[in-house]
Amino acid sequence: MADFDPDCIFCKIVAGELPGTIIDEDERTIAFMDINPATRGHALVIPRKHARDLLEIEPEELQAVAVAAQRLGARALDRLGADGVNLINSCGTAAWQTVFHFHVHVIPRYEGDPLRLPWVPGPGDPDEIATAAAALR
Ligand code: AMP
Ligand code: ZN
Repeated sequence: MADFDPDCIFCKIVAGELPGTIIDEDERTIAFMDINPATRGHALVIPRKHARDLLEIEPEELQAVAVAAQRLGARALDRLGADGVNLINSCGTAAWQTVFHFHVHVIPRYEGDPLRLPWVPGPGDPDEIATAAAALR
């Protein structure tokens, strides 16, 4: 996989070919504001090197993105007065991924904000849980 994908909008932001409101950079990552923010301060952290998704990104790149996301999450609490933070990654269209350059959403959370869990928590069938666990071991 080439480091740069000419058809990828996030690669173009890394290269400066498309505008991005960049808020953090290091050797391996950049972070910029999401143009459709879920809450105030919603940002995206990406590797500079193109990788399609969670399955394709190299471990060292993933580690760098995670550390950058931790740094930004802390900054959201410190600078924006957020009360918490969600880190979200979507891998595959079934999981809502729409841009196929790996990214972690850093979503500051505020007491009483309108975001809700995308599933309704409820007890699962114990046999089904055990079967899935066996398949995952
Ligand atoms: P996902 O649906 O998890 O793949 O997330 C893609 C995110 O990228 C969405 O939240 C979009 O709002 C955001 N996005 C798409 N294009 C841009 C852009 N040019 N600059 C900043 N954020 C973008
Ligand atoms: Zn890319």
